[in-house]
Amino acid sequence: MKVLVAGAGGFIGGHLVKKLEAQNFDVVAVDIKSEEDWFIQPKNSRPNVADLRILEWAKKYSKGVSWVFNLACDMGGMGFIENNKAKCMESVLINTHLLQSARTNKVEKFFFSSSACVYASFHQNSLDIAPLKETDAYPADPEDGYGWEKLFSERMCRHFDEDYGVQTRVARYHNVYGPYGTYQGGREKVPAAACRKIINAIKNGNYEIEIWGDGKQLRSFTYIDDCIDGTLKLMNSNFNEPLNIGSSEMISIEDLYKTIIEVKNLGQNNFKFKYNLRAPQGVRGRSSDNKKCIEILNWEPKVSFSIGIEKTYDWIQKEINS
Ligand code: NAD
Repeated sequence: MKVLVAGAGGFIGGHLVKKLEAQNFDVVAVDIKSEEDWFIQPKNSRPNVADLRILEWAKKYSKGVSWVFNLACDMGGMGFIENNKAKCMESVLINTHLLQSARTNKVEKFFFSSSACVYASFHQNSLDIAPLKETDAYPADPEDGYGWEKLFSERMCRHFDEDYGVQTRVARYHNVYGPYGTYQGGREKVPAAACRKIINAIKNGNYEIEIWGDGKQLRSFTYIDDCIDGTLKLMNSNFNEPLNIGSSEMISIEDLYKTIIEVKNLGQNNFKFKYNLRAPQGVRGRSSDNKKCIEILNWEPKVSFSIGIEKTYDWIQKEINS
């Protein structure tokens, strides 16, 4: 089966191409980044470089494919999305043009990578929060910029499904991390940033580490292998509403740092945390309610944070050393 992966040069797109190729899919891999910047090089497919905000390219690359996976988006961690709201919203063009092209080209199924950032902020403003269930996205009050784009694009998928018969699948990913993710440059997310800071602290012999916020913010983190498994299970299901693909294992940001130090045996007492209360912090608490996911897919993420973060740390350390 021929499938398009949009955003194939990115973190999740790269892992997805790898998995699809291993399952003998014929993959059309597209990203706006030049080939040498792709995180994982496709094995069997040629990397195609194109801006999928342009309808013409969206049409060209979705021609003759059975499925489209839209993982393309101009995004990053909290530091990036809080400071680049317009840029984040422009990704609406990617999904819009891919959906229109999927309709014209009679694509069977269309996958959109949404985010936990669609959830209404009033469900996430204390540490005493309930895990987020799919219905908590409404009444709408998502993350400004990035979250609104995701919520609007989710809605568009729904109506292309209802009105035009394009079968759509929408995953709400919760903080995905793992090897081959961004770990420096301003777009990195907290698990990779924490690994990098600890590695550099040891390298430089300066064991003071800055944590954004007071460190008590709660989150859950989804290992990349689980994210890819959930994505493929959802794509193979008949479920056309947004579904959480996220770990329900909740951890505070400070404990995230402590877990890395513990699993790598680096000695808690060696490190001193400094709290930057002016840095972007996002919502106070967030994790994934997986009841619906288990009901629909008979599955939920399996990899514990301590296992996933050790693999991530080892990969980042190798990258930094090389
Ligand atoms: P990423 O930044 O690593 O990958 C996105 C890719 O899209 C990049 O390689 C980028 O070059 C490409 N892209 C951007 N604009 C493009 C354009 N105009 N045309 C073609 N390609 C373009 O991000 P990721 O972590 O792999 O995320 C993939 C998807 O999952 C995104 O939609 C993201 O919003 C969503 N998501 C990710 C997370 C996470 O924690 N990583 C959480 C929630 C949702």
